[in-house]
Amino acid sequence: MNPVAPLFCVDHMLIKLGKYLRILGFDASWEPALRTHELIRRANAQHRVFLTRNRRLRDQYPCPDRSILIQSADPVAQLSEVVSGAGLDAGRSLFTRCIRCNVELSAIADKREIEDRVHPNVYACYERFYCCPACQTVFWKGSHVRNTCRKLSLPLPDCGRA
Ligand SMILES: [Zn+2]
Repeated sequence: MNPVAPLFCVDHMLIKLGKYLRILGFDASWEPALRTHELIRRANAQHRVFLTRNRRLRDQYPCPDRSILIQSADPVAQLSEVVSGAGLDAGRSLFTRCIRCNVELSAIADKREIEDRVHPNVYACYERFYCCPACQTVFWKGSHVRNTCRKLSLPLPDCGRA
């Protein structure tokens, strides 16, 4: 395990992989509006590991400083490639980052703060809630978390149920 978690940049083909990396709590960026050489330049400037399936990248574009060439076409298998290739601890920071904003979530200290922002059943069932400082979405570790863990073969986190 790296003492400091690496940052990632995925190319246009690997956005699903980027979302999975965010689910694992890692900083992963993508910019569909940028052309590949601009994306690589940005990845280098931000010290990100560039993830791509393009085997001919080195012939066509400026070289990324750090990159992992992904083999699989399946996003779940791609995630395993990155976890082993970069030596990540996959279970350590699960669901600590907003998948939309790529920002770390804050824990809600007192759940009464968000009582009017979630369904009463959810409020009653869970003790721990999280909020994205960027988009203000409230999160909890519900069935989607358990389903995602199963899909990605990850250990189930403590879901903070009441
Ligand atoms: Zn957000």
